[in-house]
Amino acid sequence: MALERTLSIIKPDATRRNLTGKIAAKFEDAGLRIVASKRIQMTPAQAGVFYEVHKERPFYGELCEFMASGPVVVQVLEGEGAIAKNREVMGATNPKDAAPGTVRADFAESVGENSVHGSDAADTAAAEIAYFFSGLELVG
Ligand code: UDP
Ligand code: MG
Repeated sequence: MALERTLSIIKPDATRRNLTGKIAAKFEDAGLRIVASKRIQMTPAQAGVFYEVHKERPFYGELCEFMASGPVVVQVLEGEGAIAKNREVMGATNPKDAAPGTVRADFAESVGENSVHGSDAADTAAAEIAYFFSGLELVG
Protein backbone atom coordinates (compact mmCIF):
# COMPACT_ATOMS: atom_id res chain seq x y z
CA MET A 1 0.00 0.00 0.00
CA ALA A 2 1.18 3.50 -0.78
CA LEU A 3 1.84 6.38 1.58
CA GLU A 4 -1.06 8.76 1.01
CA ARG A 5 -2.38 12.09 2.25
CA THR A 6 -6.05 12.90 2.71
CA LEU A 7 -8.03 15.93 3.82
CA SER A 8 -10.09 15.77 7.01
CA ILE A 9 -12.45 18.42 8.34
CA ILE A 10 -13.72 18.37 11.91
CA LYS A 11 -17.12 19.98 11.32
CA PRO A 12 -18.87 22.75 13.31
CA ASP A 13 -21.10 20.37 15.29
CA ALA A 14 -17.95 18.74 16.68
CA THR A 15 -15.91 21.89 17.38
CA ARG A 16 -18.99 23.33 19.16
CA ARG A 17 -19.04 20.31 21.48
CA ASN A 18 -15.26 20.52 22.14
CA LEU A 19 -14.56 17.17 20.43
CA THR A 20 -11.49 18.16 18.39
CA GLY A 21 -9.04 16.26 20.60
CA LYS A 22 -11.18 13.15 20.91
CA ILE A 23 -11.58 12.96 17.13
CA ALA A 24 -7.89 13.62 16.47
CA ALA A 25 -7.05 10.81 18.91
CA LYS A 26 -9.09 8.37 16.80
CA PHE A 27 -7.03 9.34 13.73
CA GLU A 28 -3.75 8.89 15.58
CA ASP A 29 -4.87 5.63 17.21
CA ALA A 30 -5.53 4.29 13.70
CA GLY A 31 -1.96 5.14 12.65
CA LEU A 32 -2.76 8.31 10.74
CA ARG A 33 -0.35 11.22 11.26
CA ILE A 34 -1.76 14.76 11.44
CA VAL A 35 0.84 16.51 9.27
CA ALA A 36 -1.03 19.83 8.99
CA SER A 37 -3.84 21.34 11.03
CA LYS A 38 -5.63 24.68 11.39
CA ARG A 39 -8.86 26.04 12.80
CA ILE A 40 -10.77 28.32 10.43
CA GLN A 41 -14.30 29.53 9.78
CA MET A 42 -15.54 29.42 6.19
CA THR A 43 -18.09 31.68 4.57
CA PRO A 44 -21.08 29.89 3.00
CA ALA A 45 -19.58 30.72 -0.42
CA GLN A 46 -16.24 29.11 0.50
CA ALA A 47 -18.07 26.02 1.76
CA GLY A 48 -20.07 26.04 -1.47
CA VAL A 49 -16.91 25.85 -3.58
CA PHE A 50 -15.58 23.03 -1.40
CA TYR A 51 -18.81 21.01 -1.78
CA GLU A 52 -19.43 21.98 -5.43
CA VAL A 53 -19.70 18.29 -6.40
CA HIS A 54 -22.97 18.18 -4.41
CA LYS A 55 -24.49 21.38 -5.81
CA GLU A 56 -27.44 19.60 -7.45
CA ARG A 57 -28.31 17.63 -4.29
CA PRO A 58 -31.32 18.83 -2.21
CA PHE A 59 -29.21 19.26 0.94
CA TYR A 60 -26.54 21.49 -0.68
CA GLY A 61 -27.77 24.85 0.66
CA GLU A 62 -28.25 23.53 4.16
CA LEU A 63 -24.85 21.81 4.05
CA CYS A 64 -23.05 25.04 3.05
CA GLU A 65 -24.82 27.02 5.80
CA PHE A 66 -23.94 24.36 8.36
CA MET A 67 -20.26 24.21 7.33
CA ALA A 68 -20.07 28.00 7.74
CA SER A 69 -21.99 28.05 11.04
CA GLY A 70 -18.91 27.78 13.25
CA PRO A 71 -15.21 26.97 13.28
CA VAL A 72 -13.88 23.85 11.60
CA VAL A 73 -10.49 22.16 11.96
CA VAL A 74 -8.99 21.26 8.60
CA GLN A 75 -6.24 18.64 8.75
CA VAL A 76 -4.02 16.68 6.41
CA LEU A 77 -3.73 13.05 7.51
CA GLU A 78 -0.85 10.94 6.25
CA GLY A 79 -0.31 7.19 6.32
CA GLU A 80 -0.37 3.94 4.40
CA GLY A 81 -3.69 3.87 2.55
CA ALA A 82 -4.70 7.03 4.42
CA ILE A 83 -7.72 7.83 2.22
CA ALA A 84 -9.53 4.53 2.85
CA LYS A 85 -8.27 4.26 6.41
CA ASN A 86 -9.71 7.67 7.29
CA ARG A 87 -13.05 6.70 5.73
CA GLU A 88 -13.04 3.63 8.00
CA VAL A 89 -12.28 5.70 11.08
CA MET A 90 -15.06 8.16 10.11
CA GLY A 91 -17.80 5.55 9.61
CA ALA A 92 -20.82 5.74 7.32
CA THR A 93 -22.29 9.14 6.36
CA ASN A 94 -25.47 8.43 8.35
CA PRO A 95 -24.51 7.76 11.98
CA LYS A 96 -27.33 5.21 12.18
CA ASP A 97 -25.34 3.07 9.73
CA ALA A 98 -21.88 3.77 11.19
CA ALA A 99 -19.93 0.89 12.73
CA PRO A 100 -19.36 0.97 16.50
CA GLY A 101 -16.28 2.92 17.57
CA THR A 102 -16.19 5.10 14.46
CA VAL A 103 -16.20 8.90 14.78
CA ARG A 104 -19.70 9.17 13.39
CA ALA A 105 -21.12 6.35 15.54
CA ASP A 106 -19.67 7.95 18.66
CA PHE A 107 -20.19 11.65 17.93
CA ALA A 108 -22.39 12.53 14.91
CA GLU A 109 -25.72 14.21 15.60
CA SER A 110 -27.44 13.48 12.27
CA VAL A 111 -26.74 12.59 8.63
CA GLY A 112 -26.03 16.28 7.96
CA GLU A 113 -24.25 17.25 11.18
CA ASN A 114 -21.95 14.25 11.15
CA SER A 115 -18.78 15.62 12.75
CA VAL A 116 -16.21 14.89 10.03
CA HIS A 117 -15.43 15.15 6.33
CA GLY A 118 -12.87 12.93 4.61
CA SER A 119 -11.69 12.86 1.00
CA ASP A 120 -12.99 9.87 -0.98
CA ALA A 121 -10.27 9.31 -3.64
CA ALA A 122 -6.71 10.29 -4.60
CA ASP A 123 -7.77 13.05 -6.99
CA THR A 124 -10.26 14.64 -4.60
CA ALA A 125 -7.75 14.37 -1.74
CA ALA A 126 -5.14 16.32 -3.73
CA ALA A 127 -7.64 19.01 -4.76
CA GLU A 128 -9.12 19.34 -1.26
CA ILE A 129 -5.69 19.60 0.41
CA ALA A 130 -4.71 22.31 -2.09
CA TYR A 131 -7.96 24.21 -1.33
CA PHE A 132 -6.91 24.74 2.30
CA PHE A 133 -3.12 24.37 2.51
CA SER A 134 -0.15 25.81 0.65
CA GLY A 135 2.93 23.68 0.05
CA LEU A 136 4.75 25.67 2.76
CA GLU A 137 2.19 24.53 5.36
CA LEU A 138 2.79 20.83 4.68
CA VAL A 139 5.85 20.09 6.75
CA GLY A 140 5.30 16.33 7.19
N1 UDP B 1 -25.35 15.10 3.64
C1 UDP B 1 -26.62 15.49 4.07
N2 UDP B 1 -27.70 14.72 3.72
C2 UDP B 1 -27.56 13.57 3.00
C3 UDP B 1 -26.28 13.18 2.57
C4 UDP B 1 -25.19 13.97 2.91
O1 UDP B 1 -26.77 16.52 4.72
O2 UDP B 1 -28.58 12.90 2.73
C5 UDP B 1 -24.18 15.93 4.02
C6 UDP B 1 -23.34 15.30 5.14
O3 UDP B 1 -22.82 16.33 5.96
C7 UDP B 1 -22.25 14.60 4.34
C8 UDP B 1 -22.01 15.63 3.22
O4 UDP B 1 -23.31 16.08 2.89
O5 UDP B 1 -21.11 14.34 5.14
C9 UDP B 1 -21.34 15.08 1.98
O6 UDP B 1 -22.06 13.94 1.53
P1 UDP B 1 -21.31 12.64 1.03
O7 UDP B 1 -22.32 11.76 0.36
O8 UDP B 1 -20.08 13.02 0.25
O9 UDP B 1 -20.90 11.91 2.42
P2 UDP B 1 -19.46 11.72 3.12
O10 UDP B 1 -18.43 11.58 2.04
O11 UDP B 1 -19.24 12.94 3.99
O12 UDP B 1 -19.62 10.48 3.94
MG1 MG C 1 -18.05 12.75 0.41
